[in-house]
Amino acid sequence: MQTVTLNNGVQMPILGFGVFQIPAEQTEQAVTDALAAGYRKFDTAASYENEEAVGRALAASGLPREELFITTKLWVQDNPAAEHTRRAFETSAKRLGLDYLDLYLMHQPFGDVYGQWRAMEALHREGRIKAIGVSNFSPDRVVDLVDHNDITPAVNQIEAHPFFGRAADQEINGERGIVIESWGPFAAGKNNLFTDPVLTAVGQAHGKSVPQAVLRWLIQRGIPVNAKSVSPERMAANLEVFDFELTPQEMDRIAALDTGASLYFDHRDPAMVTWLGNRRTS
Ligand code: NAP
Repeated sequence: MQTVTLNNGVQMPILGFGVFQIPAEQTEQAVTDALAAGYRKFDTAASYENEEAVGRALAASGLPREELFITTKLWVQDNPAAEHTRRAFETSAKRLGLDYLDLYLMHQPFGDVYGQWRAMEALHREGRIKAIGVSNFSPDRVVDLVDHNDITPAVNQIEAHPFFGRAADQEINGERGIVIESWGPFAAGKNNLFTDPVLTAVGQAHGKSVPQAVLRWLIQRGIPVNAKSVSPERMAANLEVFDFELTPQEMDRIAALDTGASLYFDHRDPAMVTWLGNRRTS
């Protein structure tokens, strides 16, 4: 598997498996199937409420820990952030059955972001987390976090797909040594992504499907991505993206689909800031 080198030297597989919205009772099977298909990088979150099921599948696989790359995410914490962040990390690690995480992301740029970040820095220094990062941070928030803390996030996981390409975010994060990672690579099918004529034509030119063309487009931009599917056939198909290359013209045709806006919601929308920032997860 192709890897991306993070700003502290950690090698992260460029393609992983995401488990958002897989119900807990289906997650163990999905992760077991994904491991059998060849995935070694898994992306979950405390708020997905399926960390335990991910952990059971990882343990049952019998794979050596160092062959796996596991990401989970810290939900917005109550104050004092230092204490709550440490407790949340320990809870997630225990549910996953792991004594260290490969990547721990602050899921949302809300609450006592600085207190949460400094607690994550401490856990990283203690060797409990190989790399720390953020998610859903707009460029202004990333720059502020970088400018006033010791450790620069390794990753910023943000919505990124053909209809919201995030070229400017990639540049601004990249200038600071931060890799943007795509969430929602297929925009969950919004905007008729799976039947889009441009994506269909680009895929067909290589004997590939729309999802394969999309994953290839992200990977060729150097953007790591987590594909989610509960179907073993789709899991396998989504891994078949390393045996072809898009031309510069094809890359540009896909980039031209960018609408410049989220297909979900804007993390800077005051109503969303209140709603997400006040939500709590166990
Ligand atoms: P997505 O990847 O854009 O779309 C997932 C949908 O695509 C699923 O319904 C899946 O259906 C379908 N699909 C997958 N492969 C397919 C294929 N080859 N052909 C046809 N359909 C296919 O959306 P997502 O799951 O929301 O995002 C992916 C991952 O990003 C998540 O699992 C999570 O790890 C991460 N994420 C992070 C955040 C964040 O705030 N940090 C937010 C959202 C997502 P089937 O399962 O039926 O195949």
